[in-house]
Amino acid sequence: MRPAVRLEHLVKRFGGEAGRRVARSGSRQTTEGEVVAVDGIDLEIADGEFFSMLGPSGSGKTTTLRLIAGFELPTEGRVWLHGEDVTRKPPFERDVNTVFQDYALFPHMSVGDNVGYGLTVRKVPKADRERRVGEALDMVRLSGYQGRKPSQLSGGQRQRVALARALVNRPRVLLLDEPLGALDLKLREEMQIELKAIQQEVGITFVYVTHDQEEALTMSDRLAVFSRGRIEQLGTPADLYERPATAFVAGFVGTSNLLRGDVAKALVGSEGIYTVRPEKIRLADRGAAVADDEVGADGTIRTVVYLGPDTRYIVALDAGSDLVVTQQNLNTSSMEVLAAQGQSVRLVWKRQHVLRVEE
Ligand code: ATP
Repeated sequence: MRPAVRLEHLVKRFGGEAGRRVARSGSRQTTEGEVVAVDGIDLEIADGEFFSMLGPSGSGKTTTLRLIAGFELPTEGRVWLHGEDVTRKPPFERDVNTVFQDYALFPHMSVGDNVGYGLTVRKVPKADRERRVGEALDMVRLSGYQGRKPSQLSGGQRQRVALARALVNRPRVLLLDEPLGALDLKLREEMQIELKAIQQEVGITFVYVTHDQEEALTMSDRLAVFSRGRIEQLGTPADLYERPATAFVAGFVGTSNLLRGDVAKALVGSEGIYTVRPEKIRLADRGAAVADDEVGADGTIRTVVYLGPDTRYIVALDAGSDLVVTQQNLNTSSMEVLAAQGQSVRLVWKRQHVLRVEE
């Protein structure tokens, strides 16, 4: 089957002065002062997939999304939607819709009119329009809210109206740019689950931009980690978490627990860069025996962060460098874990949980 979205060696450079003024740290500049926002992206997104683009600020995610939508023209490369080359087509001739972080609802219009706005403009007959608005509100679980004004809704509900307004056009691809960015944590977590459920129900391809790794891991079928306008790694959430290819991905998807240089030599036995996930490490008494398939590293607990269900310990290793360890608070109270600060310990992990990564 043809991919819903295909990007072929996509490049976007923003020119000279203008580019220099707005350049952020996460992107690359050429000697002419241009900003290379997108630096040669090849990507295929399958029909019906929930695909996320994850990366730090300035890494080129939004620009890539805008190139798919047609709000920007690429400097080089091509954009294909369902097998059609749309590189030179304007946004309204592309079968996509975009949902932004600031929902941009019309405050004076009712929820129903906001959702149906695009259909009214396109002169869809009233009965048809009302039916489709009703269906779209159903999808986002807001049936019965037609008559309300946006000001009478919570942040999460407003974002769902914005989603319904995009879904009502029945696009084959929905582009979402940090749509949950303005919501508080609890609501964001609820909406992540809702969004994924809605996407599965409607079967539309979602291309989702976020800088929040947890969000990307929770919702995506696959995701791409962006860095400096390029895709650093592409895969399923489990691929990226369990087999990060580079130190950057290991740090961005999860906590960066890197062993390098002399520390790597002492603990892993060879040169290179390695990572161990914090939940794979257990705390033992200093000098405790370790099994053949385990590594033991002595150190001192520098900081204890009590998080309720778990505790995060930052341990300064005798060999040099710090490692983060997370432990579930199965039988320990907050008093007990906090008293661990300054204690001398041994960190123990299985050799198989040491992953080699590239620079
Ligand atoms: P964020 O999460 O902060 O939105 P991002 O990963 O989406 O970041 P982009 O917005 O795609 O990153 O920006 C990539 C680079 O391109 C940045 O350095 C940015 O300043 C630059 N850039 C984006 N739009 C323009 C523009 N219209 N003119 C000049 N430079 C731009």
